[in-house]
Amino acid sequence: MGKKREIPLEIDDHFKLFGKEPWEVDYGEKCAICNVRIDEYGFCSCGSGGE
Ligand SMILES: [Zn+2]
Repeated sequence: MGKKREIPLEIDDHFKLFGKEPWEVDYGEKCAICNVRIDEYGFCSCGSGGE
């Protein structure tokens, strides 16, 4: 705690969606389709989750 909030909460969609900031999410392997890392919720840019 005590970390400076860099994104105003009102526009921080990631925080509203996941309850934590992007840099606090644990990322796993990259998606084979969009080449974006899949986060701990199984989401990536294309939404396939690597399927
Ligand atoms: Zn993807």
